[in-house]
Amino acid sequence: MSGNRTFTMIKPDAVENNYIGGILKMINEAGFRIKAMKFTRLTKEAAGAFYAVHKERPFYGELVEYMSGGPIVAAILEKDNAVEDFRKLIGATNPEEAEEGTIRKIYAKSIAANAVHGSDSDENAEIEGSFFFSQLERF
Ligand code: ATP
Ligand code: MG
Repeated sequence: MSGNRTFTMIKPDAVENNYIGGILKMINEAGFRIKAMKFTRLTKEAAGAFYAVHKERPFYGELVEYMSGGPIVAAILEKDNAVEDFRKLIGATNPEEAEEGTIRKIYAKSIAANAVHGSDSDENAEIEGSFFFSQLERF
């Protein structure tokens, strides 16, 4: 059975462009409830650790620089079938390939600066949520 929580970040480009409100509105209107949220900034070390699965990819250095380059919003979201439904809501990694009406189609600039993160499995949603939030901060 699929889980009911996922983890998201509003990435530095979207924060810089004042898209936090618009993105949260889309998230709420799609039926997700916010169970934890913080406005924060990743150090290079923390961004490197968060994206460690991509360490061998050619874009890893760029990804770490970009994700630590400005503040982000981190949040745990709740909805039935959360991981899959949220990936649908955000759209493809490359905004040029994202479907109309998805968050990345509307708010992302490029494949590197693509406005939002969404967990890709229930297991990673739990790991990523724990990266940012203690048990006491989850509701
Ligand atoms: P995320 O994990 O952030 O939700 P995703 O699951 O759609 O995105 P991944 O393959 O996990 O995509 O890549 C993680 C992130 O690395 C992407 O969101 C993007 O910011 C960056 N990235 C992926 N591919 C490229 C690329 N070819 N060039 C530059 N950056 C990339
Ligand atoms: Mg991913």
